[in-house]
Amino acid sequence: MTKFIGAHVSAAGGVWNAPKNAHDLGATAFALFTKNQRRWDAKALSPDDIRKFKANCKRYNFTAAQILPHDSYLINLGHPDIEALEKSRNAFYDEMHRCEQLGLTLLNFHPGSHLKKISESESLQRVAESINLALEKSTSVKAVIENTAGQGTNLGYTFEHLAEIIEQVEDKSRVGVCIDTCHTFVAGYDLRTFAACEQTFNDFERIVGFEYLAGMHINDSKVELGTKVDRHHSLGQGFIGEEAFKFIMQDERFNGIPIVLETIDDTIWAAEIAWLQQLAANK
Ligand SMILES: [Zn+2]
Ligand SMILES: [Zn+2]
Repeated sequence: MTKFIGAHVSAAGGVWNAPKNAHDLGATAFALFTKNQRRWDAKALSPDDIRKFKANCKRYNFTAAQILPHDSYLINLGHPDIEALEKSRNAFYDEMHRCEQLGLTLLNFHPGSHLKKISESESLQRVAESINLALEKSTSVKAVIENTAGQGTNLGYTFEHLAEIIEQVEDKSRVGVCIDTCHTFVAGYDLRTFAACEQTFNDFERIVGFEYLAGMHINDSKVELGTKVDRHHSLGQGFIGEEAFKFIMQDERFNGIPIVLETIDDTIWAAEIAWLQQLAANK
């Protein structure tokens, strides 16, 4: 197995443009939104949309294992209010359905926020319940929980939070996690040296387990360790520095999953991808 490396590319004009955009960067993985991420509603995918997306994936050599769709930013699966929770759950089913229609097998999402109205544990329980309901209504997509920066009342900023959700998911074969290096770092896990990476990913292995790792977001951070604000930076230009990315590229535990850039300067994505691919090859 090898490393699949890419970026969160634009799907402007139609989902089928994403594989082409990724290919143009020299990527072997990509992330995309299958609908406008800032809106609740979306037009259903047409048979033509689906056919063109699948044709482009084939043409540019992307299999479902290399693609990490991301859900809408509006969805909060741990919402304290029942009505709002219901709205989020319905939007999440729709996202899962769209992935299934496109032949995709992963759906990356942020766990949710308690909004200071219920406890972290109660909110995490709602997230797990939301996942259980979505998995019941779908057949093949894995729910991929992303760790967060811990900004505001967002949950998922500790490995324990991720484990607590997984613990309550009934079908463990259809739940996974996406680790974002920027979020990990600003949440308080050091990644600045090989030794620090070793420690952080040993913690991850002990608390969550690499068998659940289904994707990575590779970002540097504009802010310091433990500051709990989400500010991505280009690789090597932030407070994390290059070591972490070398560590990940040379470690086989990160093979076979989509590894996706969400760095701030898309004009250097091709160069960042080439650099990561070179690190992966030179191990
Ligand atoms: Zn991310
Ligand atoms: Zn982020």
